[in-house]
Amino acid sequence: MVEDAAVLCAGGKIVCVGKTREVLRDPRLKRNRRQVLEIDCQGQVVLPGFVDSHTHPAFIHPRLADFEQRIAGATYEEIAEAGGGIRSSVEAVRRASQPELSETILADFKQMNEQGTTTIEAKSGYGLTLESELKSLAAIRDAAAKWPGTVVSTLLGAHVVPKEFQGRSSKYVELVCTEMIPQAARQRLAEFVDVFTDRGAFSLEETEKIFQAAAASGLGVRAHVCQMSETPLQPLLRFEPASFDHMDQVNEQDVGELARHDTVATLLPGANFFLGQEKFPPARKLIDAGVPVALATDYNPGSSPTPSMPFVLSLACTHMKMLPAEAIAAATINGAWALGLENRKGSLEAGKDADLAVFGIQDYRELPYWFAASRCSFSVLNGSVMTDAGSRRLK
Ligand SMILES: [Zn+2]
Repeated sequence: MVEDAAVLCAGGKIVCVGKTREVLRDPRLKRNRRQVLEIDCQGQVVLPGFVDSHTHPAFIHPRLADFEQRIAGATYEEIAEAGGGIRSSVEAVRRASQPELSETILADFKQMNEQGTTTIEAKSGYGLTLESELKSLAAIRDAAAKWPGTVVSTLLGAHVVPKEFQGRSSKYVELVCTEMIPQAARQRLAEFVDVFTDRGAFSLEETEKIFQAAAASGLGVRAHVCQMSETPLQPLLRFEPASFDHMDQVNEQDVGELARHDTVATLLPGANFFLGQEKFPPARKLIDAGVPVALATDYNPGSSPTPSMPFVLSLACTHMKMLPAEAIAAATINGAWALGLENRKGSLEAGKDADLAVFGIQDYRELPYWFAASRCSFSVLNGSVMTDAGSRRLK
């Protein structure tokens, strides 16, 4: 923590950061004094903008029937088997036009940004046909073009086996491998390929096939693992996944193995909270073993409809025993590592992108402390200031 600090930005980058008196001596500031926009952050906390490294914004409707059924006692898996769950979001996405999808995604990006998020990983995964998965990715690209923050796109064609492929999952995996992945790569619509590797979704062998296809098309890989059941992770490590996400049921040997790899464990406690679970991801076990841990919202209509990184930090502190400083690191620099953006995002350092989030609090520990509050007063996205006129002044 640096008190009485300043950040000097130019051309979308941080050029100098430190004590105000040191930053004021920077020659670039002296040369351009008349053009400088000075924003007074006195009495506030300035953080690197959050990197929300796991979201599913490409959907149309909230899943309110699932929500009520769960309150009445049905489990996530029972709802999915009865025709609810991921599959119930699919029809609306298949019917939606690309501009319609893009408009809802852009609204989501703005909501996330209001809570201090400046970089978002966004997945497809509610189309589950070649056409509607590519349409979802194109809608993410269109929304990203209208938002000054940074977006990383992920193809999640292997989210669940769609109804029309029921009992023929290998045929669907073939479609993902031979059509979705090569076309998404060729059209530059995705940087990563994700797979839901868990009970009721895709097997380890299917995941390996999909990872192979991703590697052949030059895309990075990541996977949803160990949410509902234990997934053996060793066979997937040879693909050097950028992250393994959820990790609730990870086994002891895999924790030791992960500590020797760069793969980030991305924990998503919003899902545990919203599904009403008593257990949360084993953050302490992973951190104490030396595994890099990131936190993300898992923003999606079924299990985690929250755009709020600060709320996720509160959950991480209260239910996963992460210290506030650990939670902030997990939501910023470790999220950046999980997206391969560690050289550009996630910390306030000269040379990095000018992504800042400013909070109306006096101490960073207040951020997870005031839970479910919205204390972000404004943010800076690649050098663009997102604020109302009242909180800035020109000098
Ligand atoms: Zn997810």
